[in-house]
Amino acid sequence: MAALPEKARVVIIGQGGIVGASVAHHLVEAGWDDIVGLEKSAIPTDIGSTSHASDFCYMTSHDKLTVFTSTYSREFYKSRGNFIEIGGMEVARKGDDAQVQELLRKVASGKAFGTNAHMITAAEAKERFPLLEEDTIECAMWDPDAGLVTPRSQSVAGDLVDEAVAAGKLTVFPYTSAEEIIVENGRAVGVKTAKGTIMADYVVLCAGIWGSLVSETAKVKLPLMPVEHPLLFFGPWDALEGTGKDIVYPLFRDQGNSAYVRDTGDPTTPEGGLLEWGYYEPFEPRIVEASAISEPEDARMSPSMNDLTLDQVIEAFERSVELTPVLADLPWEERRSFNGLLSVTTDGGSIIGEAPDVRGLWLCEAVWVKDGPGAGKLLADWMTKGRTEMDPHGVDPLAITPCS
Ligand SMILES: Cc1cc2nc3c(=O)[nH]c(=O)nc-3n(C[C@H](O)[C@H](O)[C@H](O)COP(=O)(O)OP(=O)(O)OC[C@H]3O[C@@H](n4cnc5c(N)ncnc54)[C@H](O)[C@@H]3O)c2cc1C
Repeated sequence: MAALPEKARVVIIGQGGIVGASVAHHLVEAGWDDIVGLEKSAIPTDIGSTSHASDFCYMTSHDKLTVFTSTYSREFYKSRGNFIEIGGMEVARKGDDAQVQELLRKVASGKAFGTNAHMITAAEAKERFPLLEEDTIECAMWDPDAGLVTPRSQSVAGDLVDEAVAAGKLTVFPYTSAEEIIVENGRAVGVKTAKGTIMADYVVLCAGIWGSLVSETAKVKLPLMPVEHPLLFFGPWDALEGTGKDIVYPLFRDQGNSAYVRDTGDPTTPEGGLLEWGYYEPFEPRIVEASAISEPEDARMSPSMNDLTLDQVIEAFERSVELTPVLADLPWEERRSFNGLLSVTTDGGSIIGEAPDVRGLWLCEAVWVKDGPGAGKLLADWMTKGRTEMDPHGVDPLAITPCS
């Protein structure tokens, strides 16, 4: 491997995740070169959230910028053959009027911002997603453009980095942690690593759940916290044998229970023969201090995969069984299940843009797989042209109150 250069135009911290990879890709597309990517782990990442994301993408939200980044990302994944457009639904349970109203509002937001989401009946939902107990729901929102990144966002990240390296625009350093962002006169001018110091015109931080630890070395406090997201697997499940597909049924979300289900396809496919069930704790999210994230050598599974116990999710799981009873018929794959860590902000949005008090330090944090390429495009446009296609004020670090 080449020695760490003394100087680069841009240093990306967190090169192995979907966000760092998308930023590099879009900077290269904008004509920039002399980019250096630093990565704490392998490339693509084998410790970050990208290494174990469910990789599904819904298009509709109440925020115009998010619809832009999600739609851009979907088109991006699709254009590379990395997207299965299987569609997705969100259901409202019988008697949950608040959720029915929320779905109607979501469809209205989708109409305003250009997605194709619309309401469907319980019978139509059952037709599309046969695992559903039809009588349990009032109606559903159908998002026909939702889908799954394939084979995995982790592979896409690897491909994007390989392409930028092959083009001679990017040099990468796996197993090379950024230890300190050097700031002089209010400007980021370089990065210290155990392998030496590299000076840079720009530093881009894409370190996911580790983001606040790295930003603090530049005295930039970010309202960014890792949160535990339980992901459980059930199987073996051979009902989809013979389909040959990576996913057969649409994505299924039950937001009233803060849970989702998806199949992993034909048992003969690489991850097939299972049902995946995910859950977000809606009332008391299990926030984890970034400083408490394990080092790779100390983690049982991975630094971003905490152990999970069934009692943490049992009530929500039992509520899910009401809608999708097959979950209760399958053995729990305890060995594969975990509490994944992902990065969230106080307002649930991303942080994208230049750090207000440290010029030249650009942030691309708390970004989902479904928004990764769109966020990379937004940041690269902002850095290289000084403007973006879509008003970025909702994610602009300038507009975000810093942590005290
Ligand atoms: C269980 C689970 C399921 C999910 N499912 C979905 C889903 O279905 N759809 C969706 O859109 N999103 C999903 N997400 C969220 C998604 O995984 C993340 O939002 C996304 O992967 C974040 O990408 P990233 O590149 O910012 O972070 P990461 O993938 O974590 O990459 C950050 C990188 O920074 C590196 N790094 C850290 N510190 C340093 C340092 N000091 N120097 C150099 N490198 C450093 C790390 O090693 C890592 O490789 C899920 C998350 C979890 C946990």
